[in-house]
Amino acid sequence: MQSESVVDVRNDSTNKKTVTVLVPCFNEQESLPMLFDRMDALITQSKDLDYTLMFVDDGSRDNTKSLIKEYANQHDYVEYIFLSRNFGKEKAMYAGIENVHTDAMVIIDADLQDPPELIPQMAELWRQGYDDVYARRRSREGESWLKKATSRWYYDLLQKVSGVAIQKDTGDFRLLDRKCIDALKRLDESERNSKALFSWIGFKKIEFLYDRDKRIAGKTKWNYLKLFHLAMDGITSFTTAPLKIATWIGSLVSVAAVIYAVVILVRTLAWGVDVPGYASIMVVVLILGGVQLLSLGIIGEYLGRIFMQTKNRPVYLVQEQKIN
Ligand code: UDP
Ligand code: MG
Repeated sequence: MQSESVVDVRNDSTNKKTVTVLVPCFNEQESLPMLFDRMDALITQSKDLDYTLMFVDDGSRDNTKSLIKEYANQHDYVEYIFLSRNFGKEKAMYAGIENVHTDAMVIIDADLQDPPELIPQMAELWRQGYDDVYARRRSREGESWLKKATSRWYYDLLQKVSGVAIQKDTGDFRLLDRKCIDALKRLDESERNSKALFSWIGFKKIEFLYDRDKRIAGKTKWNYLKLFHLAMDGITSFTTAPLKIATWIGSLVSVAAVIYAVVILVRTLAWGVDVPGYASIMVVVLILGGVQLLSLGIIGEYLGRIFMQTKNRPVYLVQEQKIN
C-alpha cells in the first residue's frame, strides 16, 4: 500500500521527523518546573520524533526567564527567545513561528492545560498526511458557565460573518506542518488573531478531541476586558461585515427618516403647524445620534488597525535568544 511506504520513510530512525514544541510564557514560574518534568519524560521516551523545546518569554517579571535559562543549560534540545517586554501571547507565538526550523511545531500553554503527552498522537495524524492537527476541547473543566456561553456565541458569530470555517472550542493547541508554518510566517500583520489566521491559511485540517485540564498553577492572564478585545480583534481582522452593518443601519434609518419627513409634511399641510413635537424630535435625534456614534466606532476600529499596520513596526522585539 502506498500510505505504508510513506510511514516507513518517516519512521526511519536515520530520518527522524523533527518537531518543535513552542511554549509562550508570561509569569509562569509556578508551572514551569512541572512542565519541564513532563516534557523531559516525553522527549526521552520518544523514539520516532526528534524534539526541540522552544520557550518564548513574553516579558515575565518573575523568575520565568532564569528558570528557562537554567533548563536550557542542562538540555541541548531547549531553545529560548526572551522578548523585550510583554507583547501578548499572539505576538509571542509569532516570534516562535518565525524562528522554528523543524518539520512541524506544536503550540502548548505553559500552564499544562494542554497535556504534552498528547503530542505523539497528534504527530500520528500528521504522519497520515494532515497539515494542521488542531486539538478541540471535549470538556472545559474549571471554566464558568458564562465563559463557555460567551465563547460559543462568539464562535457562532465569527462563523456567520466570515466566509471561513472556524474551528469551535479550539485554542492554539495544535500541530502545524512546515507548510502551515511557512504560510503563517508570511502573515506578518501586526494586529494578530491566531484563531483567524489558522483558519484562514487552510491546508488539510483534522480535529483531535481532548480534555483540557485545569491550569496547574498560577493565574490566568485573561479577564473579560482582554477577551472582549480579542473578540473584537477576531471579528475586525477577519471581515469587514461590521462596516456593511453600519451601512445597512444607516440606509434603513435614512429611509425611515424620509418617510417620516413626508408624514410630517403632509400632516402640517393638512392640519397646520403642530407645535408640540418634543418627544418625536428627541426620539429621532437620539436614534440618529446613536447610530452615527456606533458607525463611527466601527469605522474607528478598522481605522485603528490600519493605523497600527501602516506604522510598520516590528511585531515584537527580542532581548536575548538561544536558537540552535
Ligand atoms: N501568555 C503570554 N503572554 C501574555 C499572556 C499569556 O505568553 O500576555 C501565555 C501564558 O504564559 C500561557 C498561555 O499564554 O502559556 C495561555 O495563557 P493563560 O493560561 O493565561 O490563558 P488561558 O489558558 O486562561 O486562556
Ligand atoms: Mg491557561
